[in-house]
Amino acid sequence: MRIYFDNASTTPMLTAVIDHMVKVSREDFGNPSSIHQHGRKAKSIVENARKLVAKALNASLGEVFFTSSATEANNMILKNAVQDLGIQKIISSPTEHHCVLHSLDYLTLHNKCMVEYIEVDKYGNINYNHLEVLLKNSNAKTMVSVMHGNNEIGTMTDIEKIGMMCKDYQTLFHCDSVQTIGKYSIDVQAAHISFLSGSAHKFHGPKGVGFVYINNKNIISPYIHGGAQERNMRAGTENVTGIAGLAMALELAVQNMDSNRNKIQHLRQVFKQRLEKEFDDIQFNGRQDDLFMSHVLSVSFPPGPKADMLVMNLDIAGISASSGSACSAGIEEDSHVLVAIGHPAERKTIRFSFSALNTDEEIHYTVEKLKSMTSAK
Ligand code: PLP
Repeated sequence: MRIYFDNASTTPMLTAVIDHMVKVSREDFGNPSSIHQHGRKAKSIVENARKLVAKALNASLGEVFFTSSATEANNMILKNAVQDLGIQKIISSPTEHHCVLHSLDYLTLHNKCMVEYIEVDKYGNINYNHLEVLLKNSNAKTMVSVMHGNNEIGTMTDIEKIGMMCKDYQTLFHCDSVQTIGKYSIDVQAAHISFLSGSAHKFHGPKGVGFVYINNKNIISPYIHGGAQERNMRAGTENVTGIAGLAMALELAVQNMDSNRNKIQHLRQVFKQRLEKEFDDIQFNGRQDDLFMSHVLSVSFPPGPKADMLVMNLDIAGISASSGSACSAGIEEDSHVLVAIGHPAERKTIRFSFSALNTDEEIHYTVEKLKSMTSAK
């Protein structure tokens, strides 16, 4: 048995999505920029996909652009908002994804804008009062960049609250919603979101295709220059097959959002309860009450030589999960998110992340394997 508990990293593609992409690859290979029938057919696939994404976000058609990834979308938003909209200050959080944090590092290194970070507590919650103070004290043209759901620990932000604050302080709001698209409802208008990013491979679609939402009041210029694709916003022949896969995956995710979430919530609950019962001194990173993403369970194991080997031993036992550490200069160190929430460095974090394709049986099997690898009660 091979078990996949790394769905925050990427998800398996659904068979229906694969079949659809094979069909599109075979039959609809035209270039969407061509005006003949092959081209028009490909173009209609891209435009139907755009309609679907726009509907899922309560956005207008002209506000959605396809990209190669959310990494590209986030780079485009941050760098071009500074370049084109005169943003002088970005307020973000230390627990953002590296594609946001490293873009911010680039912007500060090159003196393109100032960056301030909102305090986060031990659960990864941003401090809304601190955000308000930063907004109140800002004399520069400002944008807030805060993610919807944290990919490592699952803590979510209240995007409507942030959006309202941004509206009050006439500040733009960029939201990385890579982990929540297709899992939680997002209404860009209700949350006053100016920019948002998403990525197909996080909701059972293909890798290498994502999208950016750009509110039509905040037009930025293209990040990639070339042809007139994506209404001059993102040059390069469209990844028609990928976009078709993204659209079908999103449609299925939205259709089955409640049932998928109930199933995933159940799996998480069963796993968590069994871990609490079977192990001493087990802790869970991130928020555990209401504002958390149910597909992520970040487990902190007590220190010890066995704990250090856990991810590798799980892999040998046929279970794919993710370590909460990064290897820096040959030394295992807690990730930037775990450091930001003050996770004790001597403990070992493993992130288990689920999809609706997982089963109870897989949970129980994994707990049994974990028991044999660690000092269970
Ligand atoms: N933002 C978050 C929160 C993510 O989890 C990821 C992927 O892990 C990304 C951005 C980057 O997405 P992509 O793989 O499409 O570049």
